[in-house]
Amino acid sequence: MTAGPLRCCYARPDGELVVAPEPWLALGRSGTALTGGSEWIPLPPGSSVARLPGRPVVARRGPGGRPETWARHRGTAAAAILPVGYWRLLLPAHGPAEPGGPVLPLYGYTALAERDGTLLAAARRSDTLASWDPAGFSADDLPARVAEAERALPGNPIIAQLRRCAMEHNCYTAQNTFHRRFEGALPASAACNADCLGCISLQTDSGAPTPQPRLGRAPSSTDLVAVAAYHLSGADAQMVSFGQGCEGEPLLQLPRLLPAVRAIRARFPRATIHINTNGSRPAALTALVAAGLDSARISAFSFSQPLFAAYYRPRGYTIEDVVESGRRLHRLGAQVAVNLLTFPGVTDSPPEVERTAEALEAMGAGQLQLRSLNVDPLWLLDRLPALPAGIGLPAFLRRLRQRLPQLQVGNFTRPVEQPGMAMAAAAGATGVAAGR
Ligand code: SF4
Repeated sequence: MTAGPLRCCYARPDGELVVAPEPWLALGRSGTALTGGSEWIPLPPGSSVARLPGRPVVARRGPGGRPETWARHRGTAAAAILPVGYWRLLLPAHGPAEPGGPVLPLYGYTALAERDGTLLAAARRSDTLASWDPAGFSADDLPARVAEAERALPGNPIIAQLRRCAMEHNCYTAQNTFHRRFEGALPASAACNADCLGCISLQTDSGAPTPQPRLGRAPSSTDLVAVAAYHLSGADAQMVSFGQGCEGEPLLQLPRLLPAVRAIRARFPRATIHINTNGSRPAALTALVAAGLDSARISAFSFSQPLFAAYYRPRGYTIEDVVESGRRLHRLGAQVAVNLLTFPGVTDSPPEVERTAEALEAMGAGQLQLRSLNVDPLWLLDRLPALPAGIGLPAFLRRLRQRLPQLQVGNFTRPVEQPGMAMAAAAGATGVAAGR
């Protein structure tokens, strides 16, 4: 049977999702370009649909028709919001916000369409690691687990922060800490040396609400070790991670992190001690590996200095420091993952593809994590330098795989298989310093 047309969906003023009448067909956005060409999959379990207030629908009048703003009076654009483990391939097609309209909250807006009665998203699955399956996070016993941790660690400020993250913001890593399984969260820093346009814990100038409000102050080493020990004593616990969505940059807390990492490593020699970081301080990472850290995930939006600077608004470091961080971690034997904040039409622009491949190679990255950048799409594009048109995210990934056939591609950090290797290599390294 021939598949029906890919029809445009929009949100009525009362919020109801409606399929546009013939002949209007769905489009998605890649940077400044509008296109219907993509992989489309049925909305995965755990997806939601968002109404984009004040954003007019853009659709195509039949196959081959030009993109047109459609029926402002009927409603506004809508988008899919995907669960973890899925990768957005196209942004929703919509026009600019009305003047003075609010910046959209920080979600991964994805092109949405309907075909033969099924809602579709321009996306593909990016990881299948069972421990991150959303179905495993619906446990009714979370409040009891939180209460148990509060009794075990009274007054610990990390537990107070993770309670909010787990119960109010549905953070899976925070929930893991209370369930004492898989990867547990160890938020460590209130401060940051960047001001990312898409930071989910602090927005300094957009007015967009942040989905994971930032930790109020940095916890002590003692508090960090206590939470790590509580988590890692669980039968299914594998790793602890500094650098969560609800904090700033953990490398800024090196004097607290160093004794904490040493103490955790001494007590849990086989655990993975991981950091999610902006990679701004190579020397600090070197020192942490010497103390016992064996895994790092460095986040990046772009490896080109102008785009990197426009997005991160970094203070006191450049993209070269970020690449150097990966290089050193790899040399010391630590697991290195790069968390690429992808954005259709930017990540897959040909110069970006080339720079990303070069950087991954230089950093010795073992894994590439594909994230969909959560941000108001047109607000972001207005703040970035112009780029040549993208080749499509699937083509971007094909090129990376051709160039770096060993690179694992996924969405989630894996525990280190042979803990101890990185530490041993770093202990023998020269020039280990506790700062930049
Ligand atoms: S580096 Fe992380 S914490 Fe700092 S501004 Fe960027 S997203 Fe926020």
